[in-house]
Amino acid sequence: MGSPFSGHWGRRSGRLTVDDCHSIDVRQWHRQGRLEPGTSFTLRWAVLEASPAGAMSVFVKGDRLAIDGMAIQLIWTGRGFKGKPQGRRVWFLCPRCSRRCCLLYSQGGPFACRICMRLSYPSENESTAARAARRAWRAIQQAAFDVNRKHGKPKWMRWPTFWRLAAKAEAAIIAVNAAVASNFLIINISLIFLTG
Ligand SMILES: [Zn+2]
Repeated sequence: MGSPFSGHWGRRSGRLTVDDCHSIDVRQWHRQGRLEPGTSFTLRWAVLEASPAGAMSVFVKGDRLAIDGMAIQLIWTGRGFKGKPQGRRVWFLCPRCSRRCCLLYSQGGPFACRICMRLSYPSENESTAARAARRAWRAIQQAAFDVNRKHGKPKWMRWPTFWRLAAKAEAAIIAVNAAVASNFLIINISLIFLTG
């Protein structure tokens, strides 16, 4: 499973880009306080209406994450100051090559780093639909919808921030639907905040 918008429109090289995959960002989780041992949370991706919901459980067990049963090692560097986490940096260890990285990617299967997944960065040579699709996908990821909570708002996010991101995601989806419709394809994507 790639993103709902996995490069169908106008991507010129055969190679997938980072935007064609789900990504997880260890720095972001650290900032959000999600890496405390014992924490668990649900990752959810927006999905095509016809396909099953994309959700994964994440459990933090000390320096190890279990994401849908897959173990991912965390590496901490630097020292915290009097128990404050600001001085510490955290990395994922790529499960395939053991390289330190901030981001891991998945196309629905196991997570691995950008190099192991042979992902490139998006090029400029994209159609309008593809660009709109990427913007929509990023907006959805930013909103970080959490299926277990009311309207999908993650616990750590403030309501005004959530509604702003949700509106942005919605606008981006309308744009992508318009762009896609002009190519005689109709895609409906369901968002948890519309259904939750
Ligand atoms: Zn790797």
